Amino acid sequence: MAVDAGHGGSNTGASGKQSGRLEKELTLDVANRLQSLLRRKGVRVVMTRSGDTLIGPTARILAMRQALPNLLVSIHFNSSANAAVRGVSTYYKHVGFRPLSQAILLELRKTGTAEFGNVGHFNFFFNTPTDYPNALVEGPFLSNVTDENLILDDRFRQRMAKAIRRGLKRFVKDSR
Ligand SMILES: [Zn+2]
Repeated sequence: MAVDAGHGGSNTGASGKQSGRLEKELTLDVANRLQSLLRRKGVRVVMTRSGDTLIGPTARILAMRQALPNLLVSIHFNSSANAAVRGVSTYYKHVGFRPLSQAILLELRKTGTAEFGNVGHFNFFFNTPTDYPNALVEGPFLSNVTDENLILDDRFRQRMAKAIRRGLKRFVKDSR
């Protein structure tokens, strides 16, 4: 099982509208929480990064080609020029991987956040591999004040990690 923390190093990602907190720190925080939760269940986890390092899309893809995980989830937080937009969303490219993204969204909805949706044919680099089911999770919007307050709450980030874990479990169970 692979967990990808979005951004890192000089690639900071988005930043909080009020706090200025960087997406790269928050994605790693949720990825680390998810890793702990999975390990506690005996799942072997490979991370695309475990520190504040700059690793480009090609290097990440190649590393996963070596690691050959049975699943990959990529964690990001959303941002929009429209400050009113909020909620959690999941993305896939290949229709065959839609069930994974849907299972995760179903669980993310239970964290008490708004829902932004499930989007297909999405051109994100970690949605392109066909060797393993993959999904992109976009947590709430750093550009929305309500969402930002949620994201900055440790308890929410723990709920988010738990929801992703439940979504992965749901997917694995349903595909047996
Ligand atoms: Zn991002």
